[in-house]
Amino acid sequence: MTVFEHDGRLLIVDCGVLFPEEHQPGVDVILPDFTWIRDRLDRIDAVVLTHGHEDHIGGVPYLLRERPDIPVVGSRLTLAFIEAKLKEHRITPQTVEVREGQRQRFGSFDCEFIAVNHSIPDGLAVAIRTAAGLVLHTGDFKMDQFPLDGRVTDLRSFARLGEEGVDLFLVDSTNAEVPGFTVSEGELAPAIETVFRTTPGRVIVSSFASHVHRIQQVLDAAHAHGRKVAFVGRSMVRNMGIARELGYLTVPKGLVVDLKDLDRLPANQIALVCTGSQGEPLAALSRMANRDHPIRVTEGDTVLMASSLIPGNENAIYRVINELTRWGANVVHKGNAKVHVSGHASAGELAYCFNIIKPRNVMPVHGEWRHLRANADISILSGIDPKRTVIAEDGSVIDLVNGRASITGTVPAGLVYVDGATVGGITEESLHVRRTLAEEGVLTIVCIADPDTGKLAEEPDYLAHGFASDAMDFEDATPAIQRALTKASKEGIVDLEQIEELVRQAASTWAHRRHRRSPLIIPVIVDA
Ligand SMILES: [Zn+2]
Repeated sequence: MTVFEHDGRLLIVDCGVLFPEEHQPGVDVILPDFTWIRDRLDRIDAVVLTHGHEDHIGGVPYLLRERPDIPVVGSRLTLAFIEAKLKEHRITPQTVEVREGQRQRFGSFDCEFIAVNHSIPDGLAVAIRTAAGLVLHTGDFKMDQFPLDGRVTDLRSFARLGEEGVDLFLVDSTNAEVPGFTVSEGELAPAIETVFRTTPGRVIVSSFASHVHRIQQVLDAAHAHGRKVAFVGRSMVRNMGIARELGYLTVPKGLVVDLKDLDRLPANQIALVCTGSQGEPLAALSRMANRDHPIRVTEGDTVLMASSLIPGNENAIYRVINELTRWGANVVHKGNAKVHVSGHASAGELAYCFNIIKPRNVMPVHGEWRHLRANADISILSGIDPKRTVIAEDGSVIDLVNGRASITGTVPAGLVYVDGATVGGITEESLHVRRTLAEEGVLTIVCIADPDTGKLAEEPDYLAHGFASDAMDFEDATPAIQRALTKASKEGIVDLEQIEELVRQAASTWAHRRHRRSPLIIPVIVDA
């Protein structure tokens, strides 16, 4: 989420979510921190969405909870995806549909929209003109010269804006470390065709539920080889319905059928397109791998994982591949066939952009620090003054004044965790507790003690979960606990919480010395 400010007015570009990693157990999604805009909500002129990926639109339902009438601006498909999502949150947004080539003012911001291609159709870059200068934000993009829909990244407009003078260029950095050029989506056709031609059983394809062009290639191959297709997984069914209805997905008559209608067909006339390409435990493919799905993968079937392998998901994905092969399926994936190309511009394409646009200042966006650094280095190689490349982190404030961009401050911008029905209730501290519970277990110690002397009335009760469970293991903790209680009474400590903390420390030292473990320890002190 990027916020532009001019004359006290605000324009938001994208509002996405992050997905939790292994060190964030139990978290559903992670939102941007709205703290800074929360007391400026009435000054927001619009939120512009560059494309329909979750990491760019997923936070919008939560933003609109803060102020429901913020105009939501985007292309036709992007708006259709966000509207479907908002419907699940029972929110009806105020939308403004825009298309490439269009120029429209939102309050203080004169916006021009430019076609870019990416791993979802209908992506837009946005050029923002204010009295402070011209800012060009690419959103996520690549420069596929032969895209399936013929909609190339509009370099002519990039060049025209460059002639006018781009004061600040915000540019996608995701693939800045990858040398050369991202190959065309169409180059996957042979590998996909081979799968459909050679598989004796069913073909089961997993992909992102928004990758309309990848799925189009799968549908085309299925059609050519006489297979019927069913979509599996809620988001896949929903998004493909939208894409088809709006004309982004071309489906030959009778090709797509309901899952239940596949039963009457022989295996070699069946194809399934499902979610779960990242090994997500609740998605269709993982459930098939775990035999927790009506579809039983078997000998003769081929599973085609037509997607990237997002760092952090490797273990989950390989677990799914292992299980699927155990059931006898042939699994074709990025590692053994050419079934995926990236949706982001590689270093070569980025260099072209810098040379075409010749921006006055560059701010690499999207990606981790190393990607931003690599992108800045490409801009410097193309002749941009190193002092005019701004590498910003979440929360950085960048001023554009007199044609010069620089970091001038920070605003709060932590991660906000959505956990079940709560937003922001889970903190880093709660996640630390969860990790401790997962890795070390929990030990509850109930002590009945005389408040005056601190003397234990009886042996404490030790209740352990996920930690040593043999009662014998705890015998030698009692003297340490008694010493802590005696010390507390001698020092005249009467506050129960303080006494419990002393007991917790004593037990923690004991657990570490005796077991080399650090369980979560919950002391409970009861007056004798
Ligand atoms: Zn994207």
